[in-house]
Amino acid sequence: MKNISSKAPKAAFSTRAIHSGYDSDTENGALTPPIYMTSTFAFDSAEQGGARFAGEEEGPIYSRLGNPTQSILETRLADLEEGEAALATASGMGAISAAFWTLLAAGDHIVADKTLYGCTFALIEHGLKKFGIEVSYVDCCNVEEITAALNENTKLVYFESPVNPNLRVMDIQKISDEVHRFNSEIKVIVDNTYCTPAIQQPLMLGADLVVHSATKYLGGHGDLIAGAVVGDAETIQRIRFEGLKDMTGAVIAPMTAFLIMRGLKTLELRMQRHSETALIIAERLQQHPAVEVTYYPGLPTDPYYDLAKQQMSLSGGMLAFELKGGLEAGKSFMNKLQMIKRAVSLGDAETLCQHPASMTHSTYTPEQRLAHGVSEGLVRLSIGLEGVEDIWQDIERGLLA
Ligand SMILES: *Cc1c(COP(=O)(O)O)cnc(C)c1O
Repeated sequence: MKNISSKAPKAAFSTRAIHSGYDSDTENGALTPPIYMTSTFAFDSAEQGGARFAGEEEGPIYSRLGNPTQSILETRLADLEEGEAALATASGMGAISAAFWTLLAAGDHIVADKTLYGCTFALIEHGLKKFGIEVSYVDCCNVEEITAALNENTKLVYFESPVNPNLRVMDIQKISDEVHRFNSEIKVIVDNTYCTPAIQQPLMLGADLVVHSATKYLGGHGDLIAGAVVGDAETIQRIRFEGLKDMTGAVIAPMTAFLIMRGLKTLELRMQRHSETALIIAERLQQHPAVEVTYYPGLPTDPYYDLAKQQMSLSGGMLAFELKGGLEAGKSFMNKLQMIKRAVSLGDAETLCQHPASMTHSTYTPEQRLAHGVSEGLVRLSIGLEGVEDIWQDIERGLLA
């Protein structure tokens, strides 16, 4: 199957996740893409080297600028996200920082959701601000708050959906429409780590760029750190040659690119199973007397249920709940778990559990935690691929504590 993605009608998502961007005929028939473990590439002649550097001839130069294994992954990710081009990076933070440093300069302004992945918040607070970039934090669930914050210096609007800790969902289409109505040059950037393109395709809803921590569901096996940016070819080219090549150097290793492609082959299957199991667990949590509230956009009682139905094909594998009994109840729940791992990160085959008040946010005061939306009894689960009854048994043991 050659160039499967360029044939009309378009192949199914799972077919493209397996085949897109790779032609085994050019690689001695190798079923899986070769891993090009090389830093640099030799030219036929000085003239060829010149043409490559001038961008007049396609082809590899040096692996900080691109590598054939990485290129296959990038073609595949662009296809799955319905973008023109993609850039794979050494980490999710590498992707986000390469995009920010490329698109922003001193004096610019950005709008971001009030809740962000912790290191993205730190990058903005300690990185961008130090270089003279202004930031407005708003509740992106409320589109009017976003449009009220826009000004003539605004260069980008940034959010995750759904977002920690209580799985708020943003209306990607409406936000993109309103922001672009104000100024079509403003880039709307969506962190699509929680959903992956198997569930949600922000570019199809009007966003300009998608960023990923490929460490999570895209890789899917908890064995690598990587990231990606997907969008229009011109912007991705700029991010590759400015933000990545010169400013962050956050280059993905060829071996890591290979492992992500291995993960992508089962992405759709995994997201279906994660979502199915998470819904069953969320329904049971909601019924349980030890649980105050359950946050999961797949629950019909969830405030984001309708919006999630509109823009997400499944509800995903992430859920959170508040335990009655606060901090002590949270700690005791965590310490009763046997199969489920007490760990940060998400999107793996293993179910992972995080209690922010005693783990990631343990150095904050209870007041500071609340300001960050972290209540004392809040527990986050990344539902894995184990049997649903085994997952539930472990959770129930914790709840009985
Ligand atoms: C993990 C994560 C990141 C950062 O990605 P790394 O691969 O750890 O650098 C960014 N955004 C979200 C939503 C994440 O979960």
